Amino acid sequence: MIKFQSINKKFGQTIALDNINLNVKQGEFIFLVGPSGAGKSTLLRVLTKEILPTSGKTLVGDKDIDKLKNKDIPNYRRKIGFIFQDFKLLDDRTVFEQVALSLEVREFMEKEIEKQVEHILKLVEIWDKRNLFPKQLSGGEQQRVAIARAIVGKPDIVLADEPTGDLDPQTAWGVIQLLNEINSWGTTIIMATHNQEIVNTLKRRVVILKRGKIIKDTK
Ligand code: ADP
Repeated sequence: MIKFQSINKKFGQTIALDNINLNVKQGEFIFLVGPSGAGKSTLLRVLTKEILPTSGKTLVGDKDIDKLKNKDIPNYRRKIGFIFQDFKLLDDRTVFEQVALSLEVREFMEKEIEKQVEHILKLVEIWDKRNLFPKQLSGGEQQRVAIARAIVGKPDIVLADEPTGDLDPQTAWGVIQLLNEINSWGTTIIMATHNQEIVNTLKRRVVILKRGKIIKDTK
């Protein structure tokens, strides 16, 4: 479903990605691991087209994403949910509004938005806090809102960049269980992480990056 073909990315003299070849099947759950600076975030951002590779090709489905026209990029990005370490919630929106916003931009009908947001907020168990603002929530609760926002439009792919980085171990496990559940619906998940315990316990495919290269790919 996702194919990175000979992807290279340089930032000035820095080689962030060095000949990356990686195929990800639909419904796979992959961990991207490696030290800080290994190129994990850069690879995720090549997929969202926030970063253009210096060379190489990325296919999603059968489409070469380099050939997407500017006007088609927003539509392409809607197929991808992104979860960040620092949540990136909007301070001045309630829990409900944050999640509703990702459907409003897709021009869903109001009734449909209400229905889907309620469903997702119940799924991530934050429905009772729907009228609170991010500052009134714990870190784990904020991350659950961020996950709800990422998955409410039923994206084909969910990318998570250190989603448990700022969370205590128990809360981190809650987030992982949620990602596991999303994956069980057939959603492809690529998660960049440092958390060795999570990687060891989950027994999923692990791709190790070092200085921009894939040095190990274990199914
Ligand atoms: P990771 O996510 O594994 O920590 P990154 O993908 O963020 O690694 O970074 C890979 C390398 O690319 C690092 O050396 C980093 O400093 C460099 N890099 C990333 N983004 C930029 C940028 N926008 N400008 C310059 N260098 C960058």
